[in-house]
Amino acid sequence: MTSTMQSTCPATGEIVWEGVEDDAASVNRRLSAARRAFEGWADTSPDRRVAILRAYAEKLRDHAEDVARTIARETGKPLWEARQEAGSMAGKVDISIRAQAERAGFRTDEQPFGQAVLRHQPHGVMAVLGPYNFPGHLPNGHIVPALLAGNAIVFKPSEQTPATGELIRSLLSEAGLPDNVLSVVQGGRETGAALIGGEIDGLLFTGSAATGMVLRRAMVERPHVIMALELGGNNPIIAWDGDPVAAASIIAQSAFITAGQRCSCARRLIVPEGPAGERIVEAVTALAARMRMERWDAEPEPTFGSLISAGAARYAREEVARLTGLGARTLLAEQRDDGLSEAFMAPVILDVTGIDVPDREIFAPVLQIQRVPDFAAAIKMANATAFGLSAGLVSEDAALWQHYLSRARAGVINWNRPTTGASGAMPFGGLGNSGNHRPSAYYAADYCAYPVASFEAGELADLSGQIKGLAPAAS
Ligand code: NAD
Repeated sequence: MTSTMQSTCPATGEIVWEGVEDDAASVNRRLSAARRAFEGWADTSPDRRVAILRAYAEKLRDHAEDVARTIARETGKPLWEARQEAGSMAGKVDISIRAQAERAGFRTDEQPFGQAVLRHQPHGVMAVLGPYNFPGHLPNGHIVPALLAGNAIVFKPSEQTPATGELIRSLLSEAGLPDNVLSVVQGGRETGAALIGGEIDGLLFTGSAATGMVLRRAMVERPHVIMALELGGNNPIIAWDGDPVAAASIIAQSAFITAGQRCSCARRLIVPEGPAGERIVEAVTALAARMRMERWDAEPEPTFGSLISAGAARYAREEVARLTGLGARTLLAEQRDDGLSEAFMAPVILDVTGIDVPDREIFAPVLQIQRVPDFAAAIKMANATAFGLSAGLVSEDAALWQHYLSRARAGVINWNRPTTGASGAMPFGGLGNSGNHRPSAYYAADYCAYPVASFEAGELADLSGQIKGLAPAAS
């Protein structure tokens, strides 16, 4: 039985998208069509594939405002940020072409017998599962390199952001991507489960660690399915010295940008005990209180908009209540008398020093402060997590930075820059519960194709002279 679904704007409640949820039969039809389309696409010359992806980048630029408004309405993030996301989606194409050539290209070495050749082949049909927080940029970060490499794709956007998924599909189609090389299926967990249970060769996932574990378990008996898992984090930022106001500008951006809904947001601030740490905490609290929260289309531009839904805000508030129940001290309480919807959540800062808090990602503007006696304790505290996505150090001491760099366990480690600082021209991924050592962004080229080594001689030569220990041939 088919059921309908819709996405709504978290700021206004208006319906953004309505459609039919794909059931298992419909998902399997898409997978079969993708399988049939795969060979033709893999045989399409790399130049033609590049031309179609470049045309897609053009379409993204031509429709940038439409893409940005769709993202903003579906997620509640401010237009300025949604416009950046639309820009990153277009920019991804040239970066991926470069990455493909550098990391998954073609190489020959002359040999006495002929040549050794390195080539890369597409895996086949890839499932892409997207999250809601960057519903355009993050799936696009899997889709573009996978298509360039010659794979076919069945893409399931987050059930909270189906309109953005549809837009990606229609712009690729307008750019000339042949039918069924990329299909979109819509729905939640059941649709996702049908997709990963189907005939796929790869699973490219960005989402929570909990779902990542479900996906891993689902693949136990299919080790050949290549998996890229980009998961969450419980990211630390250590602020040790320097101007407290400058430090606060880095920390507050790390923690509260996108209303805390970036996987790389700092969740924990680690400072020295005593007045130096206290000055930093006071500056962060003062700056956080000045960050303006408004509807996505508000003028002047707000710092951030709503969370994805009222349910997400409710859940985050419950997490805050759990922490205060454990003894956390509230340094900045949520102040709400703004008439905005239930999906909005203002920054919260809690001092959890000395409290045994759970190692969980709170995907919201909530920052936990931990005060420590010395730098060794700061590093220990930073690494006291099963996650390992991003980490940061704020300090003017280069020796401390070198020391931290050698000890921190994370895939993105930034110095005097927000933990959310990332680039498509660099790898992006994490350790531990944050991923599976298949970083995306620039390194997505690695998991979108497999390498094939060939030793080639155009002429057939008799190699029997090279076989040691041969008995003489019978005369
Ligand atoms: P989520 O894990 O709830 O959902 C992600 C996708 O998986 C959605 O399409 C969802 O429908 C699907 N899904 C969920 N459960 C499933 C199941 N049992 N079987 C099959 N499919 C299933 O994640 P979310 O809440 O949409 O996104 C937020 C999370 O994503 C946060 O944890 C955040 O840290 C993480 N994230 C990570 C990165 C990164 O690059 N490391 C980037 C952005 C977001």
